Amino acid sequence: MKGEPKINYASSGTMLEKTEILDVEKVINEFEAMTKDAENVQRETLKKILEENGSAEYLQNLGLHGRTDPESFKACVPLVTHQDLEPFIQRIADGPPASILTGKPITNISLSSGTTQGKPKFVPFNDELMETTLQIFRTSYAFRNREFPIKNGKALQFIYSSKPSRTKGGLFAGTATTNVFRNSQFKNAMKAMQSQCCSPDEVIFAPDFHQSLYCHLLCGLIFREEIQSVSSTFAHSIVHSFRTFEQVWEELCADIRKGVLSSRITFSSVRSAMAKLLKPNPELADLIHRKCSGLSNWYGLIPELFPNVKYIYGIMTGSMEHYLKKLRHYAGDVPLLSADYGSSEGWIGANVNPKVPPESTTYAVLPNIGYFEFIPLKVNAEERVQDKVDASFISMEPKPVGLTEVKVGEEYEVIVTSVAGLYRYRLGDIVKVMGFHNSTPELKFVCRRNLMLTVNIDKNTEKDLQLAVEEAAKLIAEEKHEVIDFSSHVDLWTEPGHYVIFWEISGEVRDQVLEECCNCLDRSFLDAGYVSSRKVNAIGPLELRVLRRGTFHKILDHYLGLGAAVSQFKTPRCVGPRNHKVLEILCDNVAKSYFSTAF
Ligand code: AMP
Repeated sequence: MKGEPKINYASSGTMLEKTEILDVEKVINEFEAMTKDAENVQRETLKKILEENGSAEYLQNLGLHGRTDPESFKACVPLVTHQDLEPFIQRIADGPPASILTGKPITNISLSSGTTQGKPKFVPFNDELMETTLQIFRTSYAFRNREFPIKNGKALQFIYSSKPSRTKGGLFAGTATTNVFRNSQFKNAMKAMQSQCCSPDEVIFAPDFHQSLYCHLLCGLIFREEIQSVSSTFAHSIVHSFRTFEQVWEELCADIRKGVLSSRITFSSVRSAMAKLLKPNPELADLIHRKCSGLSNWYGLIPELFPNVKYIYGIMTGSMEHYLKKLRHYAGDVPLLSADYGSSEGWIGANVNPKVPPESTTYAVLPNIGYFEFIPLKVNAEERVQDKVDASFISMEPKPVGLTEVKVGEEYEVIVTSVAGLYRYRLGDIVKVMGFHNSTPELKFVCRRNLMLTVNIDKNTEKDLQLAVEEAAKLIAEEKHEVIDFSSHVDLWTEPGHYVIFWEISGEVRDQVLEECCNCLDRSFLDAGYVSSRKVNAIGPLELRVLRRGTFHKILDHYLGLGAAVSQFKTPRCVGPRNHKVLEILCDNVAKSYFSTAF
């Protein structure tokens, strides 16, 4: 097709022949109408999902017999986790094509970052999921554009592809965002939203992240006057990009001055795509040089580089909040707008109040993109924050309520029934209902249910921590010592943030052995997000802090003082800043500390 890149990036998505500018008022009106009737829309959505997929083996075996109402659905279909569906998804991945979870066989697999055991999870992806993705994008764009209109602009989007692979059955497997970016409809949607990425496909899909990032920055500078938004999926990536800019800006200026791309870019496809954009421009190089030299500690860098930028956009809630401070520093007076709420498994809500600062952003659930249920967290949110009853919300009896039945101020675990073959799937996220938009709830993201450690894209659970500790403890076991108890903390005060593991050990262990333990801990977190961030130093070296004997007793005493019972006491395995008393006890009792040299 004319205008398509020569490389075959486009997947099965239908190519729209003509791209029209999005009618934002129409999108908003549709959203308003739909959210006024959220309960019915949910019923209809469930009906549609069950009709389209009724022939799938999974549903056939549950005895629905063609019934599509929520009551029968809940009675027949069990709540599941990813682990329960793994055998089905694996069969889909292994082929041959069959109606296993969906009526129409799945053609693409998404690799979610994975919160269990640090391994990426396979999640089904299909055209229907792509359409819901676009609907979310269109909805939040419509509301955003009403407040911050952009026209004929380009977007500096720090977006990247994962290394494409095929499953045993020949299905394309990449991260969910890769599945989206390579879909031909994505590009058309961006055109319709007047937010086309300023970088060519060869840059987005470059096999090396560093080269891709360098070229994104260069493209941004070349099109600096046209850039109207700066974005990425997650805020962390925007911050990382401008931190990199601080390192490479002179090299970027040199490239622009001579019109010759740095030799650090080695991929010929990227070099030839960039050669079409990069022409000698000493005036631009001088201008950027002057601007950068005039900044104080890079404050306001983004508007200085991109004078017409209207906003900075990306997911800024949850684990991304940490990056807001640095992002605001780069942004100066340019507003920060949080992007939407979703996952590889499916989208959930759109940010329809873009003027609200990211710290208070909520997400309005779109009632037609999936069927949603919510497990109430019986534990009082305040108590949980104080970690008085840290484990009880994991072991509760799940009794989900419907989308329109949730209560303001309450916290819930999200259950998704998606258009891509997930039925009553426990997503593992905790959200809080902050209000309603018409009759659909506005959710605030609270946390991952089982997530213990995260600095940016990394996700390590209590189990991952335990496995790492077990591995490293073998080294001191050789010295006839043991780890009496352990805990952890994510230190975000350092730049970059890093993991701190606290150990209370029996007896004296030689420094040399403990240094090795520290390296071993660092290497034992196998989560792809952790490993890749460590390699690029987006997460700093892991720190092992050895505690004085008796420290965990002090923590137990502290909990007992709050009313906990010894029989139910569990050592907090990850201590956040909100749990300042426990953190204080840990930090006040450090005898020695070691930093990893493993990466
Ligand atoms: P993944 O499937 O690997 O992309 O991760 C999806 C997870 O990222 C979700 O289940 C959430 O835990 C988190 N997430 C996605 N969107 C947001 C958001 N807007 N705010 C906070 N966390 C989010």
